[in-house]
Amino acid sequence: MKDSAQTKNLIQRDKKYLWHPLTQHKTAVDALPIVKAKGALLWDENGKEYIDGIASWYTAMYGHCSDYIVEAITAQMKELDFVMFSGFTHKPAIELSEKLMKLLPKNQAKIFFNDNGSTAVEAAIKMALQYYHNKGKKRDTLIAFEGGFHGDTFGAMSASGLSSYNGPFEDFLLKVKRIPAPQDATIDEVLSRLEEIIEKNNCAAFVFEPLAQGAAGMKFHSAKGLDALVQKCKSLDVLCIADEIMTGFGKTGKNFASDYLEHKPDIICLSKALTAGMFPLSITSCSQHIFNAFLSDKVAKGFFHAHTFSAHPIGCAAAIAGLDLLESKTVLERRKYIEDAHERFVLKIKKHPKVEDARSLGVILAVDLNVKMDRYGKSRDKLYQFFMSRGVNLRPLGNTVYVLPPYVITNEQLEKIYDVILELLET
Ligand SMILES: *Cc1c(COP(=O)(O)O)cnc(C)c1O
Repeated sequence: MKDSAQTKNLIQRDKKYLWHPLTQHKTAVDALPIVKAKGALLWDENGKEYIDGIASWYTAMYGHCSDYIVEAITAQMKELDFVMFSGFTHKPAIELSEKLMKLLPKNQAKIFFNDNGSTAVEAAIKMALQYYHNKGKKRDTLIAFEGGFHGDTFGAMSASGLSSYNGPFEDFLLKVKRIPAPQDATIDEVLSRLEEIIEKNNCAAFVFEPLAQGAAGMKFHSAKGLDALVQKCKSLDVLCIADEIMTGFGKTGKNFASDYLEHKPDIICLSKALTAGMFPLSITSCSQHIFNAFLSDKVAKGFFHAHTFSAHPIGCAAAIAGLDLLESKTVLERRKYIEDAHERFVLKIKKHPKVEDARSLGVILAVDLNVKMDRYGKSRDKLYQFFMSRGVNLRPLGNTVYVLPPYVITNEQLEKIYDVILELLET
């Protein structure tokens, strides 16, 4: 444990050269130095403990510094650190592709590697656009949900519908038409809107976060409705891209949110929990007919897209170990426990006068407070500080408080998160 003079020192040093993401540095409070993490816990330099209630942007689902994953990565580092993935291949990538194919929807056939969530979406969009280009069809428009979030590179940003991120860049984005995410009662309405868009535009692909829109405030939509939209797109020759970067690997109660659908997406994007928070890596998987459209005697019909760190062996080793844990008895039991506990908590607080809505899906819990709040405004920051002062890392999205804990969180730690939310409602 170190004294607070040292903490201050780290904060001062941070402020000298660092520029943090999603931060207005003129008004933001100092970033908190974290020195250690284990399981569901984070520690600052003074030894104060925080429960990581959102698994650090839902990556560290098997717990921070998992011994099993650390061991796998260490062994990989000593064997083969890195080699380019163009012209070369390696066992970690091959083994990961084999394991993923057993888990992914049956129509998925090929795995393309990238290095983060945004680039997975970027590759997916480029795949869809080139798919039609290779077939000699003019397609220049994407379809996406209102309020979606798909990342911060230009293609991904175009598909995203959150103006707090995209405002200054709106003149530079790809062509996108938006539809509302369907609720059970609005399926027909959204379907006809979709049909109209496809009729009037040259649509290449429909990009969506399946079942849960994360950055929008953990908003859930109808699986039946999404299924109908996917079916409609496929019948009208529009590709479907499921961005499962948030929902993948068990968050919604099934391995992938696409598992709730009868009609499967052509392309799936994965990252975040893919590597358990240990390493940046992402995947864009696709069905055989997408891959086939790139096969030609003409070199230029291939997919000329690459990131230096594609299929990084260390990331692949982390992902393989993560998949072992995802399917382990302990994790399956913990997932079930968290899902049930969330459901009980929702019932308990749903009628509270300070709660506008409470909902859960799998291990995702969201509580909309009965107050209007800017996404990154002062009252939202106060809320964040309230949780942190009680030793819980929850990052409200505007007035939505959400919990997406690591699967290894203990019953007591989960209970403490609920208690702090209850305390907030009672103050
Ligand atoms: C986080 C996220 C992204 C972007 O991933 P990055 O690794 O931050 O670029 C894209 N889509 C969804 C649904 C996400 O949750």
